[in-house]
Amino acid sequence: MKTKSFDNVKDQVGFCGIWCGSCVVGNGVLRELTKEYERIVEKYGLEDWASEGFDFNEFKKGLASIRDVKTCSGCLKGGGRDNCEIKNCARSRELKDCSACEDFMVCKNSEILKKMREGARDAGLLVKDKDVDQKHFLKKAMSELENKSPHCILFCKT
Ligand code: SF4
Ligand code: SF4
Repeated sequence: MKTKSFDNVKDQVGFCGIWCGSCVVGNGVLRELTKEYERIVEKYGLEDWASEGFDFNEFKKGLASIRDVKTCSGCLKGGGRDNCEIKNCARSRELKDCSACEDFMVCKNSEILKKMREGARDAGLLVKDKDVDQKHFLKKAMSELENKSPHCILFCKT
């Protein structure tokens, strides 16, 4: 199973190098995983197993609100951070991404760039390194994603 959302982001590498295809908010994993969890909760009758005083209805509302988080359209198609300094800067220089920037070593956004890239890696997203060919990166990243949790839910048979 591959979601429409995944098709939308699978070729998008943000200006900072984050691969939108590996983001659970953009590729549909968050939604699919939450739907699956809701199904398990329902089919296993887990409400009967809840500890006393646990508000199961509120819990279900919380799950529904996570399931319905708006899917991000991806950095190159209007998604990502509002007013992202990195995106604005790279666009104004007509660069495909920061790895092609001559001022990379003296970048005024270096702190935020580092924070975004490290934060993304920490959350399990895949990030393109400087000077790596994009096609090569996407090919390798795609095969990694197929075996990576929770993203593998996109590829397993239901
Ligand atoms: S919006 Fe900014 S931080 Fe997010 S992927 Fe795009 S360039 Fe990177
Ligand atoms: S100056 Fe920094 S944010 Fe702007 S394009 Fe270069 S590396 Fe990217």
